[in-house]
Amino acid sequence: MIPAPFEYARAGSAAEAISLIGQHGDDAKFLAGGHSLLPLMKLRLAQPTVLVDIGRVQDLSYIRDAGDHIAIGALTRHRDVETSAILAEHAPLLKHAASYVGDPQVRHRGTIGGSIAHADPASDLPATTLALGATYVAQGPNGTREIAAADFYRGFLESALNPDELLTEIRVPKMQGAGWSFQKFNRRAQDWAIVGVAAWRRNGDSGVALVNMGSTPILASSVSSALAQGGSIADAAAQAAAEAEPQNDLNASSEYRVHLAKVLVRRALEEAS
Ligand SMILES: Cc1cc2nc3c(=O)[nH]c(=O)nc-3n(C[C@H](O)[C@H](O)[C@H](O)COP(=O)(O)OP(=O)(O)OC[C@H]3O[C@@H](n4cnc5c(N)ncnc54)[C@H](O)[C@@H]3O)c2cc1C
Repeated sequence: MIPAPFEYARAGSAAEAISLIGQHGDDAKFLAGGHSLLPLMKLRLAQPTVLVDIGRVQDLSYIRDAGDHIAIGALTRHRDVETSAILAEHAPLLKHAASYVGDPQVRHRGTIGGSIAHADPASDLPATTLALGATYVAQGPNGTREIAAADFYRGFLESALNPDELLTEIRVPKMQGAGWSFQKFNRRAQDWAIVGVAAWRRNGDSGVALVNMGSTPILASSVSSALAQGGSIADAAAQAAAEAEPQNDLNASSEYRVHLAKVLVRRALEEAS
């Protein structure tokens, strides 16, 4: 449980962090809250030779009303998302989902940007921001670009971010009167989801995404299509796993995960109606 040796550099700004990563090449990694990276390093599943600590870049910790969307700095802690009055008003699904991340200690250290950049399909906020149609902002040596959440998740712990790019902001469209629900099925409170569902509905529109139902967070487009075509909640929930490729692991077989997804999507759609 002791990490391989590494060098440590602390960045005071986003620009300095990108410059430091650029100096040290592909073996360097950003360190935000450390609550996903450090466990991997202790197991030696990750062995970066340099850590660029961005945990004190205060400029990237904010939640702002930006007109048609809410802008959230990547270094914003889960606890600040969970307690945000702005999110309570305009994106209550995200605020609520953040309250399900780990325990208070995890939520006080972990960051929304770290959770999204880590791209763990079992994490709660990647799927939730995917359901909400969020846009992520990345800054690299050649400037800034926007990446739709739907294009971001490429594989297990793999994202569209280049190694020298810093995720700086998450833009979440305002929900404007939509019904919403977050369902998380786990065996013990504070565990990762065996399966989770983030969903919202407004008139004929909806967004549904699944936690831990494949190698990436999954957008359950077939559920939304069924609803848009006038299908019942039962019809839509039957499509819950159409885009999923659930894995077998110690907690659940793939068949059990499919069953859970259908049950949880039905509950989520009922609650969001
Ligand atoms: C005991 C425990 C329980 C947990 N339970 C849950 C849970 O129930 N649900 C859940 O969703 N999560 C859970 N987590 C994970 C937690 O949410 C982490 O905080 C989060 O996944 C990673 O955020 P971080 O800031 O700690 O990132 P770090 O661990 O610092 O970084 C993770 C990865 O992202 C990269 N990175 C970080 N920030 C950026 C950035 N701005 N730009 C580019 N790359 C970046 C790092 O280089 C690293 O590769 C748990 C963690 C622990 C330790």
